[in-house]
Amino acid sequence: VYTKLTPEKSRPNSKRIEVRCAMEKNERKGIVLFSEYKRGEAIKKALEKSREDILFELRESKLKGRGGAGFPTATKWNMVAAAKSDKKYIICNADEGEPGTFKDRVLLIEYPELVFDGMVIAGYTIGASEGIVYLRGEYEYMLKSLLDYLEAMRKDNLLGKNILGKDGFDFDITIRLGSGAYVCGEETALIESLEGNRGEARNRPPYPVNTGYMGKPTVVNNVETLASVPHIVLKGGEWFKKYGTDKSTGSKLFSVSGDCERPGVYELQWGTTINELLEIVGARDAKAVQVGGASGICIPKSQFDRSLAYEDAATGGSIMIFGENRNMLRVLKNFMEFFVEESCGQCTPCRIGNTKLLEGIEMIEKGEYTFGYINQLKELGQTMKVASKCGLGQSSPNAFISILENFKEEIFNGNGGRNGK
Ligand code: NAD
Repeated sequence: VYTKLTPEKSRPNSKRIEVRCAMEKNERKGIVLFSEYKRGEAIKKALEKSREDILFELRESKLKGRGGAGFPTATKWNMVAAAKSDKKYIICNADEGEPGTFKDRVLLIEYPELVFDGMVIAGYTIGASEGIVYLRGEYEYMLKSLLDYLEAMRKDNLLGKNILGKDGFDFDITIRLGSGAYVCGEETALIESLEGNRGEARNRPPYPVNTGYMGKPTVVNNVETLASVPHIVLKGGEWFKKYGTDKSTGSKLFSVSGDCERPGVYELQWGTTINELLEIVGARDAKAVQVGGASGICIPKSQFDRSLAYEDAATGGSIMIFGENRNMLRVLKNFMEFFVEESCGQCTPCRIGNTKLLEGIEMIEKGEYTFGYINQLKELGQTMKVASKCGLGQSSPNAFISILENFKEEIFNGNGGRNGK
């Protein structure tokens, strides 16, 4: 399976890149993450540089957080590097819980050298001696192979004391398992969980860069963010930002699922349009694409020329494709049932709000609604976005609002629900 991407105006500096169906590792091809890399290569190079030089390259690259929010990685690292503290931490957020997202799973299983080397480089740069991987409970099956991998790194002195002979640079990585709560992917709930407490979000600020794990300055990065670092250290920030757009540099992994011929994990440069992606994965009759998982937005066919980029259709990498025959109300119900189940219940907008939105969907299903009430629910969704304590309740109304807006014909007059009053 093979296709080529034509560069668009939004990516003036891009070269034509080859893309392959990404189900099998030996079939994968990509510009950054799916390119050649040997374990330890970037650690060696990083240790020859000063911390300031690494931060400089990272800043040059304009790498942004790949978990979804897109916070500049260099800024985050710099804040912890500059903090005065006896102890600092780097945490790899591997609690990949967003429905439809499975790219971190592929990185951890098939490219652990990138993730762990990225953590070691982060440790060196920010001055941390401990790294922790918070691994999604459902990914327990990969724990043994990851622990074996860390052991092999210790044997090669890529972890441990005086790493690769660098005097005074001691760093090691432990892995901690989550227990299946979606909210623990939120960084402060994750930290609470690591500390042995109930997984509930903290108020921010203070951000983890100031008050993180055990109250110490902590960098929390997504798996893919850390995996991008070794390539930036080896090839430089200038090289990295040749790809993508001005505001979204480099490449992105997309977990593609749903109604297409070739689901899988693809590495594409930022700025790729939804139309281009659909062509690559062989989705011929798509009527909707959910960008960013259940917490993302649902984009209808009329907007498939939009770009996947922080400045347009931003995403942590989940792409769910819905073909002509899908019932969008049922899709939405499925998402909202998930959020009702996963809301931690700590704050009212999220706990009650998600339940109300789900009830509204059930009313539409039964044909027992008024448009006035549905509009009130959309307003409730907008309130949840600003009033919820953490990303869960702030983003769960996205699907509700975008699906009801973009598929009102289908939902209120057609297959998705009976006529309202
Ligand atoms: P956020 O924008 O509040 O923060 C992003 C990162 O930047 C955090 O690490 C935060 O600590 C840091 N940050 C932000 N402002 C800062 C400041 N002033 N000083 C220092 N650090 C600062 O976003 P968030 O609530 O952490 O995450 C929301 C995102 O998570 C959404 O975009 C969503 O797509 C994504 N998400 C991902 C998954 C997944 O499985 N990957 C699941 C659910 C949600």
